[in-house]
Amino acid sequence: MKILVMGPPGAGKGSQSSRIVDDYKMPSISTGQMFRDAFNRGDEIGIEAMRFIKKGELVSDDITNEIVKRRLHEADAEDSFILDGYPRTVNQAKALDEMLDDKGTKLDAVINILSSHDVLFERMEQRRVCKQCGETYHLRFKKPEVDGVCDVCGGELYQRPDDTHESVERRLEIYETKTKPLLDYYSEQGILYSVNGMQPFDKVYADIVEILEDLS
Ligand SMILES: [Zn+2]
Repeated sequence: MKILVMGPPGAGKGSQSSRIVDDYKMPSISTGQMFRDAFNRGDEIGIEAMRFIKKGELVSDDITNEIVKRRLHEADAEDSFILDGYPRTVNQAKALDEMLDDKGTKLDAVINILSSHDVLFERMEQRRVCKQCGETYHLRFKKPEVDGVCDVCGGELYQRPDDTHESVERRLEIYETKTKPLLDYYSEQGILYSVNGMQPFDKVYADIVEILEDLS
């Protein structure tokens, strides 16, 4: 299965994706992670990407496409993968289609997690992240067993600095203008599936699993 999980910031893409990765044993292809790794190795591509990231800009399509192309040629991404943070623009989506086409394959499904702006704001304000392992919680929908403590590793939970009202507003704006057009692109290909993200975490996940089971 080759899938992409989409949705506005705060809709729960990250948590839902990491559960799919665990349950289905498929590699996650995260451009953010790959750029950080490449940078830490001192690779040219990582250093170039970091110039954009440090300024808070989207990394250029050329660099982003190149790092994904390299990753798709690795053996573990042959049969299945879940894309995280890519593609973010229609140009990137077209480049991805070409890469997959060259390998004689294609995306099986794009899962779109729907949510209203009100709910997104509320979610971000209620979101807490583990300082140690990065696990995410929601004070209403996915509460930790003990207040302020991570269920997984016992680490301290904190609120991400970019989960402020202003920052969320800016991220939603970028999403609306650059990323939302992707929905039309994938809808035309007939591979877009939507789930209601305004439900409890487990219910959203159950809806995603239903889509994935129908595919396989
Ligand atoms: Zn933790």
